[in-house]
Amino acid sequence: MSVARFMALCLSHPEHGYYATRDPLGRDGDFTTAPEISQMFGEMIGAWVAAVWDAIGQPIYRLVELGPGRGTLMSDVLRVTRAVGAVQEVWFVETSPVLRAAQAAKVEGAHWAASLEEVPEGPMILIANEFFDALPVHQYLRDGRIWRERMVGADGERLIWGLSGARPMGAGLSSLDWFERAPLADAVLDQIAHRLAQAPGGAFIADYGYQEADRPSGPTLQALRRHRPADPLDAPGQADLTWLPDFDHIAGRLGPTTKVAEQGAFLAHLGIGRRAEQLARANPDRAGTIADDLERLTAPDQMGRLFKVATVISGAKPAFRTED
Ligand code: SAH
Repeated sequence: MSVARFMALCLSHPEHGYYATRDPLGRDGDFTTAPEISQMFGEMIGAWVAAVWDAIGQPIYRLVELGPGRGTLMSDVLRVTRAVGAVQEVWFVETSPVLRAAQAAKVEGAHWAASLEEVPEGPMILIANEFFDALPVHQYLRDGRIWRERMVGADGERLIWGLSGARPMGAGLSSLDWFERAPLADAVLDQIAHRLAQAPGGAFIADYGYQEADRPSGPTLQALRRHRPADPLDAPGQADLTWLPDFDHIAGRLGPTTKVAEQGAFLAHLGIGRRAEQLARANPDRAGTIADDLERLTAPDQMGRLFKVATVISGAKPAFRTED
């Protein structure tokens, strides 16, 4: 089977799938995400949501999150946005029953959908942190003048890597020796672009990923178990599997006004430094932890540079000026 099929089964199989059966986050889990590190992350995204809402003329809108994990990001975002505006409904796009329960405990009155298509159309501000990297990816490797797809097979009880026969590929790949394609991720990105063309709104997408200029030297599938890299073929369904999305590709699908930034610069621009100072002043006994969390989220050698952010806004109105 393809790597994409393997990934889909490992992560989403209703009985044995990784996400279907557990809450993978936190210290006792397999990995940690920015919202689980500190409330400051969600508060900055909340500030971004509030700014977008204002820029698009303060409509009544739906706040949509893809792959909300424990619901921590949304609850931090809502603390900020509830103070300023008119969220009509909160929608979570989530397939895991375990995580839906965790989200219900964190955010009251939310709605759930299994895909973005099921969310009613209209003005929408969408957020997605570490969602796209969990969607199934196909991997292709150059073999002389042809392309082959990376496959997963079995040798008796043991899983092994393999290669497909020649795969016909489109033009424009002549300079590459590997590439990845995630049809489901592309379909979701196209759906977001379509909705933002129909109604005002915005989208924020963050992931551990890259831009063309710092393209990794080889295919990017990785497994994490108990906060350590693992062999993706070992213990299928019991490790987190992700890949690194290409943010230039994401921007290409979302449209020409999409901006890509490093997470550290994005959070700094929204004022996370000042928020950290404020929190430390209010909680002097936690000042050390707050400084550590800030460092983890923004420092170039931590999440600040490896994590990328894509944002797009549609239907922005000319800015309101009091003197007009
Ligand atoms: N955004 C959260 C969690 C990231 S983990 C955070 O930052 O902490 C990935 C999330 O995507 C989980 O909630 C997982 O259940 C969800 N997910 C994975 N594949 C999905 C799919 N195909 N459709 C909807 N949700 C999915």
